[in-house]
Amino acid sequence: MSRQDPIDALARHRHEFGEHGGVNMCIEASSTFTVMAPETMPEIFAGQRGPDTEGCYLYGRHFNPTVYELGAQLAALEGTEAAYCTASGMSAIAAVVMQLCDSGDHIVAANAIYGGTYALLKEFLPVKAGIETTLVDATDPAHVARAITPRTRMIYVESLSNPTLRVADIPALARLAHHHGIALVVDNTFSPLALSPHRLGADVVVHSMTKFISGASDVIAGAVCGSRDFIAGLMDLHTGPLMLLGPTMDPSVAFQLSLRLPGLPLRMREHGRRAQAYAECLTGHGLAVGYPGLPEHPDHGLMQTLRSPDYGCGGVLTVDLGSADQANALMGLLQNRYGFGYMAVSLGYFDTLMSCSGSSTSSELAEDDKAEAGISPGLLRISAGISGTLGQRLEQLEGALKALGILGSGEVSVCA
Ligand SMILES: *Cc1c(COP(=O)(O)O)cnc(C)c1O
Repeated sequence: MSRQDPIDALARHRHEFGEHGGVNMCIEASSTFTVMAPETMPEIFAGQRGPDTEGCYLYGRHFNPTVYELGAQLAALEGTEAAYCTASGMSAIAAVVMQLCDSGDHIVAANAIYGGTYALLKEFLPVKAGIETTLVDATDPAHVARAITPRTRMIYVESLSNPTLRVADIPALARLAHHHGIALVVDNTFSPLALSPHRLGADVVVHSMTKFISGASDVIAGAVCGSRDFIAGLMDLHTGPLMLLGPTMDPSVAFQLSLRLPGLPLRMREHGRRAQAYAECLTGHGLAVGYPGLPEHPDHGLMQTLRSPDYGCGGVLTVDLGSADQANALMGLLQNRYGFGYMAVSLGYFDTLMSCSGSSTSSELAEDDKAEAGISPGLLRISAGISGTLGQRLEQLEGALKALGILGSGEVSVCA
């Protein structure tokens, strides 16, 4: 293990103790903070004192100690100088865009991205802020290079794209961005630990902590990880998008999430192991599976060179059933007859979640953008849970395949 290893870095970051020596930090449930001397307050406003300089706090929409500590843990995880947490993944993404781009600026983004991010970049920002985005097939950095203009300020990709699970060539995209003096921003929601975008060259890493980092589908939360200056800029009293737009994380949410981080490595390893087994099972039955852990995946080789060795290839897989009807039939059986998982959007939950991306979390995409990104109507996204035993889950999966006639009733199991 090296200092580059996310788990090692997280363990080295000894979190704060509670006020009375509690093993867990306290929840600092205060929206405002006292100072000891009158001169201190103007110094905080002038940026001369802050959380890292004598532990000075000002106001809860600026920095809160509990949220700040969770940010420090995320910075350790992602290997960045600093990080800060937000009320949602979307607010983290929006804040990064507002920090890097002014009106008239331009973004080059991958065409395979989360539907909310697509709507933000393609529909909201051009109208509200005069920030334009060109979507490209970012699996080939040459396509990204061709779309860069003198007004381009950032390249935006997901480490593993939602829902198509293409792997971003982060080192190549980082070289390209830095050659043009612009930032590479990577959404690492799908692959915490498995991929470490900053360690691979990205400037800013964003997370929807709503997914794997929470692991319980109970809270909405996000994070921005980057340089100390970048995070400080988000909090600038005059121009900082987090400070001024105010998507503030509640300290009690920060506390809850801080208790999930130590278990994240174990969970990610198991999510990855299950996803790999389901991918192999479905492939074994001749279905069209998308999972970077399979040798036939177009980015399998790239994934093997970029990923940390211990966390598999992520907890999400896709299977294309050919039509929305067939995908819906399989999901229905898997939930209502076999108890394999739930029909719900989102991912990273301890139980398996299944949704048809084209008509749900990617429905924001225009039809031609969907086709371009490879999101067909029968594409079923499966977020592999970690509950139950793997053997039991594989039996349930094969049971549903049999019921649907995908697997002949006399055919032997190739999975369980
Ligand atoms: C869910 C998701 C988001 C949005 O995060 P919220 O926490 O729901 O705001 C952004 N990016 C990806 C890849 C996601 O899956």
